[in-house]
Amino acid sequence: MAVSLRDYQEHAVLAVRQAYLSGKRRVLVVLPTGGGKTVVFAHVAGATAERGNRVLILVHRRELIRQASRKLTDAGVKHGIIAPGFTPTKDPVQVASVQTLARRLEDPRYAAPDLIVIDEAHHAIAGQWATISAAYPNARLLGVTATPARLDGRGLGVDAGGCFDDLVLGPSMADLIQRGFLTPAKVFAPAEAPDLDGVRTKGGDYDAAELSELMSQPRIVGDAVEHYARHCPGQPAICFSPSVAHAEATAEAFRKAGWRAQAASGSTPGPERDAAIKGLETGAVQVLCSCDLISEGLDVPAVGAVILLRPTKSLGLFLQQVGRGLRPAPGKTHLIVLDHAGNTLTHGMPDAEREWSLEGRKKRGKAKAPPVSQCPTCFACHAPAPKCPECGHAYQRAERAEAEVMDGQLQEVDAARLESLRRRPLKDLLREATTRDQLTEIAKARGYKKGWTFHVMKERAGRQGALV
Ligand SMILES: [Zn+2]
Repeated sequence: MAVSLRDYQEHAVLAVRQAYLSGKRRVLVVLPTGGGKTVVFAHVAGATAERGNRVLILVHRRELIRQASRKLTDAGVKHGIIAPGFTPTKDPVQVASVQTLARRLEDPRYAAPDLIVIDEAHHAIAGQWATISAAYPNARLLGVTATPARLDGRGLGVDAGGCFDDLVLGPSMADLIQRGFLTPAKVFAPAEAPDLDGVRTKGGDYDAAELSELMSQPRIVGDAVEHYARHCPGQPAICFSPSVAHAEATAEAFRKAGWRAQAASGSTPGPERDAAIKGLETGAVQVLCSCDLISEGLDVPAVGAVILLRPTKSLGLFLQQVGRGLRPAPGKTHLIVLDHAGNTLTHGMPDAEREWSLEGRKKRGKAKAPPVSQCPTCFACHAPAPKCPECGHAYQRAERAEAEVMDGQLQEVDAARLESLRRRPLKDLLREATTRDQLTEIAKARGYKKGWTFHVMKERAGRQGALV
């Protein structure tokens, strides 16, 4: 093998081997984004081929073929590619996209595999995956993912309607940050997260067209440009948009502010897309505004900031997007996350500890996000603490009490209410809040300073011409 494995990667490989030896046939490996999932499966594929067996590596999108192929080459594993434009080879390791393979299952040029590897295995429930595993019933399965859950929280285990019968858990993102394999992230979110109440859900996530419209408000895009200039001016940044048009408009807004920005999406021609990504590495492009294309797969260690403009219900998508910036690089002390989508408030800090199982989360659809505090002074998001780690803002007792409640068992009860108090437009909340207690609740949820409630009460009293 040309690439040596890190200790935790080696443990994962050993655990997979152990699982197969103990009679399991379909093993799912969980490693955080940036933990080297591709390195792990490339290693397993190479070792399997060396013992005379055939391996089929499946990726769910064509763009990911190249990445898998590169990692296999790095690991010294000779392989063929099953995709339009590639000549079939006899290599024992083959890489294919699900779409292509599903159309060529009957093709006699491809021998049945002994091991099927599924990259980004949280997608491994769609009909195409089922068709493929049904076509090769004798093959063992190895899935890899950073987030082993579906959008609705269901797990990927057989009992939950998925395909896997064993789980190998690698280290957490926090572990990898602590050991220096990933860069720590500083997250900033705007004072007001976008109001997603009216946005429809399509295919389990927010409707892209409606999101695009919502997130195109000049205030939001302008905020993104302003925060970039404030927190990470000139740093190579990737911006995630809900639509191609949104990515293009955002790039234009950055250019108008004097930054070198470019948009790229799934419909951008290959060479142009590659040039844009290369530009991020060389500095020719400062802000790459993307749609869909590169949530997974894009790998530029120099990236110092990610800008989230696409709210999502998918924890996986959120972590993948943040993960684009977590690779360490010389001189890089941390990643800046500008979360204009409010995803951190929905899903928790990227490096929060999360418990995974094959069954999935206990309550379907109700994601229990780890608690997050947002500093009212600098708008940093962080795990609940007495002081803001960014600016040192000391939380008032009331704010701290809230953080403590969120940290404990009571969190489940209040999470939805808290979320709505944080997300809904202030003017609506003010209209509904008639008592001091209700105002105090709003102030706490949104992290306003102690005098805010008093101020509102005073203003109201003044307007009514009477004392309350
Ligand atoms: Zn702060």
